[in-house]
Amino acid sequence: MIGIAPGVFVRRHDELDLTLGLVVGDGESLLVDSGMDVALAREVRPSRIVLTHNHFDHVLATEAFLPCEVWAHEDCVVDAGLLEDRAKYYDDPFTGTLVAPTHTFRDTVTLDVGGRRVDLHHFGPAHTSHDVVVHVPDCGVVFAGDLVEQGAPAQAGPDATPSNWRHVLDRLLELDPRVVVPGHGDPVDAQFVREMAIPEAR
Ligand SMILES: [Zn+2]
Repeated sequence: MIGIAPGVFVRRHDELDLTLGLVVGDGESLLVDSGMDVALAREVRPSRIVLTHNHFDHVLATEAFLPCEVWAHEDCVVDAGLLEDRAKYYDDPFTGTLVAPTHTFRDTVTLDVGGRRVDLHHFGPAHTSHDVVVHVPDCGVVFAGDLVEQGAPAQAGPDATPSNWRHVLDRLLELDPRVVVPGHGDPVDAQFVREMAIPEAR
């Protein structure tokens, strides 16, 4: 885990250049995406997970962290469809159990993570129909999920809405972030987000 602000960490993975986040409060913590590496659960016992969206690389390890609350947007469906996508990348079968969100929201919800305020926002469809932006106001950190990628272009699959993507990023930038953590790649600043290319529809 790499510290990027007081009590805020990122975990970088070689696999798909994935980036997870952790916000630590007093006796509680929030993991941003569960990822694919169940070994992380030996290091981190979060009281909550928030799923930024339902792509397999962001959600498959959730089971390893239970018991904990699993937060997501209300349109975040975790079902066997994810495994079909996974099968395009990996030959070995997925052997865990898929875990659906236990707590959902529509536009915004504020969580208390051990005395620390964390806001979850949905600014409309872009990378998926149900992207969640995680804001830690006390240190200006925003976790963007796959709305932002560093080191590779942002990706728009069949479930993306590229025409709304810039609007969603503008809403994210209104949070005035000091650091933006992408779903893949290293943390970036607001200027990177202002200048990033929006992917074309496929
Ligand atoms: Zn994604």
